[in-house]
Amino acid sequence: MSDLQSSALARVKPSATLAVTARARELKREGRDVIGLGAGEPDFDTPENIKAAAIDAIQRGETKYTDVDGLPELKAAIAAKFKRENGLDYSTAQIHVAPGGKAVLYNALVATLSPGDEVIVPAPYWVSYPDMVLLAGGEPKVVIGHEEDGFKLKPAALDAAITPRTRWLILNSPSNPTGAAYTRGELEALAEVLRRRPDVWVMTDDMYEHLIYGDFEYTTLAQVAPDLIDRVLTVNGVSKAYAMTGWRIGYAGGPKPLIDLMRKVAGQTTSNPSSISQWAAVEALNGPQDFIAERGEAFERRRDLVVSMLNQAEGVRCPTPEGAFYVYPSIEGLIGKTTQGGVVIDSDETFATELLNEAGVAVVHGAAFGLSPYFRVSYATDEDTLRQACERIQEFCAGLT
Ligand code: PLP
Repeated sequence: MSDLQSSALARVKPSATLAVTARARELKREGRDVIGLGAGEPDFDTPENIKAAAIDAIQRGETKYTDVDGLPELKAAIAAKFKRENGLDYSTAQIHVAPGGKAVLYNALVATLSPGDEVIVPAPYWVSYPDMVLLAGGEPKVVIGHEEDGFKLKPAALDAAITPRTRWLILNSPSNPTGAAYTRGELEALAEVLRRRPDVWVMTDDMYEHLIYGDFEYTTLAQVAPDLIDRVLTVNGVSKAYAMTGWRIGYAGGPKPLIDLMRKVAGQTTSNPSSISQWAAVEALNGPQDFIAERGEAFERRRDLVVSMLNQAEGVRCPTPEGAFYVYPSIEGLIGKTTQGGVVIDSDETFATELLNEAGVAVVHGAAFGLSPYFRVSYATDEDTLRQACERIQEFCAGLT
């Protein structure tokens, strides 16, 4: 295998979140009673009007290649979305559409990284960022956002991490895995640092924009610091907001020279995303939006339930995040304890493994996201299941000695 694998791929780890989901599925197939809290997708179905638009596209014969980086109709819908929801003026020539947010990010990295170029990745990070950077030939530079700072990147830490080789900063708000979201003031403070560092570009991953709770005001960097817009790529997609993870449509707005380079990458690799999914995304963005708020209320109830129940688990401390559908509790208080099965918890990885083996709950260990000792819970599942899972976690923790 080592002979077959390229040197670029040899630097990459398989996705830990996909591995947990696969392991949970395997145990279920063996007949074990397992609750999966590992997956990063809404449990809700894609809304009916969006499905109908896809069926209609098939029947109209919209089944051929489209422009490599998106149908003009979809780019127009995305430009209108950026204007309506973010106050951003992107022309259709400044928009890139690809098969998922993942492909958008990857196209941008491949388009711009040369060997040795650095990308600042604040931790806890979404598992794919460092590995995508490696695959694209760059070097991830991880900067920790500590729990006492809400898991967010501080301006001084950003400043200290920048070198002459820094090409990008990746900023993800609300965050996968912590659910933390940056306030306008926090973005302004980061922008202040970036103004002094004109060679650094910023990718904002706004995938969870619509999953924001309470009276938190969502903003994105390009909106807060319009003077930086010529070096910001604003990444978003329909996967999470519209429960369309399987349709594979992500998009971004950015400076035209960068968008042109990203089109060049897509033109020699994936070509256009599915024409049918693109028509579905047109309907998602142009159609009724009220279900987003309704689903948001359900997610907020789930967040409150999970935070409260996990804080009642012995040795667990669970901060209340602003958005997304994840919480990131600390298990600092459990390190060194022994499970009923006789295993000493020496890391968050051991904790997650034994929680699955002994209590039948699948979560992802914090080391996969670059900050230990924590674990990630996805609460994108119904309240009864969440209650049951949290009870199991409480019992597991209470049984430690
Ligand atoms: N960005 C973040 C932070 C994510 O959590 C995900 C999906 O889990 C993505 C991007 C990728 O989204 P997509 O499914 O559209 O590729």
